[in-house]
Amino acid sequence: MLFRVGTRPRVLPIGEKNCASWRAVLALTILGIAALGFSFLSTQGQAQTSGAPPPIEWMDVHVHLIGGRGAWRDYEGAVSAALAVMDEAGIRKMVVMPPPQVSTQQSPYDYESFVEPLKRHPRRFAFLGGGGSLNVMIHEAGDNARVSGALRRRFEDQAMEILRQGARGFGEITAHHLSHLSGHPYESVAADHPLLLLLADISGRNDALIDFHFDLVAEDMKAPEWLATPPNPAVLRANLAGFERLLGHNRSARIVWAHAGSDMLGHWTPGLSRKLLERHSNLYMSLRMAPGRAPQNHPLTKTKEIRPDWLRLLRDFPDRFVLGGDQFIASPAIQGGGPGMVFAQRAPLVRERTAAFLAALPADLAGRIAYENAIRLYKLRD
Ligand SMILES: [Zn+2]
Repeated sequence: MLFRVGTRPRVLPIGEKNCASWRAVLALTILGIAALGFSFLSTQGQAQTSGAPPPIEWMDVHVHLIGGRGAWRDYEGAVSAALAVMDEAGIRKMVVMPPPQVSTQQSPYDYESFVEPLKRHPRRFAFLGGGGSLNVMIHEAGDNARVSGALRRRFEDQAMEILRQGARGFGEITAHHLSHLSGHPYESVAADHPLLLLLADISGRNDALIDFHFDLVAEDMKAPEWLATPPNPAVLRANLAGFERLLGHNRSARIVWAHAGSDMLGHWTPGLSRKLLERHSNLYMSLRMAPGRAPQNHPLTKTKEIRPDWLRLLRDFPDRFVLGGDQFIASPAIQGGGPGMVFAQRAPLVRERTAAFLAALPADLAGRIAYENAIRLYKLRD
């Protein structure tokens, strides 16, 4: 059996090319952290990038590959880098998806960019699609536009094509996405946008899931200082009611709310998660082990113990949580910056904190959250 508790994951030998790649990634990481001091890593454990290995192998259901856009691409290299990371960090499988993009970004890209190199490793990877197509259509339509029959058909055709190509569902899709740095978009539509309701129906009919990025605003609030630059608006509007209407629209649609535990605005508390999980049987959450901007809502304390309210939540809903590290993994050939390269610097810390989280969990819960739930929810083959 692959996932025995207490088994040290096998570390595959890495060849010379990969060693060179690793040196490049490491150099970038050190340079990047020193130069940018990126505060997304927040307040806990910033300097730690090497920790104890995870007590069991795990699956990361929320990963982005950086392989370039437009004519020049190297997704082969990004897949090789991901495989090296997986073998090193005890990650059995990854679910890869394009980030939630909008039409104003340079060359939005979707699953087509990386699907071929991924398919050469069917036991290690699955994928979601739509972040560079369906999400673009949702935000292009916006809140005020009428959604025509023609647009609905185009949207549904694209969604069905994504599933035909082997995606387990749709991602990364968003109704509210904060901009954290230059070149990182602000995106906002009502969570019960007609195209999101349509996507829920398509997911329900096809037994697919939706990976949903949703920066929660429980009540209207002034944007905090660190967000108070365009494109973020000065006032953030309450958006929970629309999200609950989306969840209630079609109970066959499984919606995985991404980045749980990594709350940005202070409103996504364990108490609120409990209420929503009670009310909505089709809601799941993927945990990102970066504390976000509201570390009080993160599962781990500063000393890497699990907060009691979180442990109760995980115990009461053991089938509803998976691990979504939001790791960005770049081809070693990628030059230059951009938000993805900044986020890539966070990935070693997320892996280290995920290992600490799994080590702190009781063994029965660790197995469910590390891989059992992911296998069931994403239909991952062994
Ligand atoms: Zn996201």
